Amino acid sequence: MALNFKIYTIFPEIFPGFLGYSLTGRALEEGIWSFETVNIRDYAFDKHGSVDDTPCGGGAGMVMRADVLGRAIAANHRGGRILAMSPKGRPLTQQTVHQLSRESEISVVCGRFEGIDERVLEAFDIEEVSIGDYILTGGEQAAQIMFDAIIRLLPGVLGNAQSTMSESFEDCLLEYPQYTRPTEWEGRQVPEVLLSGHHKKIEDWRKEQAIKITGERRPDLLKKYLDSKRV
Ligand code: SAH
Repeated sequence: MALNFKIYTIFPEIFPGFLGYSLTGRALEEGIWSFETVNIRDYAFDKHGSVDDTPCGGGAGMVMRADVLGRAIAANHRGGRILAMSPKGRPLTQQTVHQLSRESEISVVCGRFEGIDERVLEAFDIEEVSIGDYILTGGEQAAQIMFDAIIRLLPGVLGNAQSTMSESFEDCLLEYPQYTRPTEWEGRQVPEVLLSGHHKKIEDWRKEQAIKITGERRPDLLKKYLDSKRV
């Protein structure tokens, strides 16, 4: 089953962007995923194509108008989940990415300027999603990052489905260190256990490393991991 992204944006030409390359690009050609853009400006009420206005109550910047965006969504929405990229949204996690990868159509509103009039978010029951605690200039970049994470989980996109299972976050742990040939580089050796061919020992070493790295870098994740083992 293919996945279609319906994207509400004032910059449709940004898509597919980097998603047109490499594994995601091949999957697009193969029809594993597809996208449609809706140019919000096409739904403006004036001949200048205005999509934004100054914030009620004052303050810096411009806000995307509820009437224009609302009209764009009403004319194009066929049902299914609608998300909006937003720094005040629910943080995107690998778990949410897995859920989204099981949908057949996902609509995404890309904000610009200071963001979107709150009333459109309420009226269409839009779920706000953040890709991290920092501010970008537009939702298009954030949407492409979210799409990339979703697309690589779709059947047939990665050569080895196993490789998504042992990655960072899949079990609340960051990934163990990876090495490839040459086994010695500028005096640095690949850890001996990885060359031993002893699968159990390799697995134990990787687990131990994953726990160590997670503890050092993400104590919040390690706590989740340890809590999940306790039940
Ligand atoms: N004034 C807003 C930031 C607007 S940034 C605030 O303080 O919350 C402009 C647009 O970029 C947003 O509407 C959103 O679509 C997108 N954007 C910026 N940072 C983002 C993030 N971390 N995650 C998702 N989208 C983001």
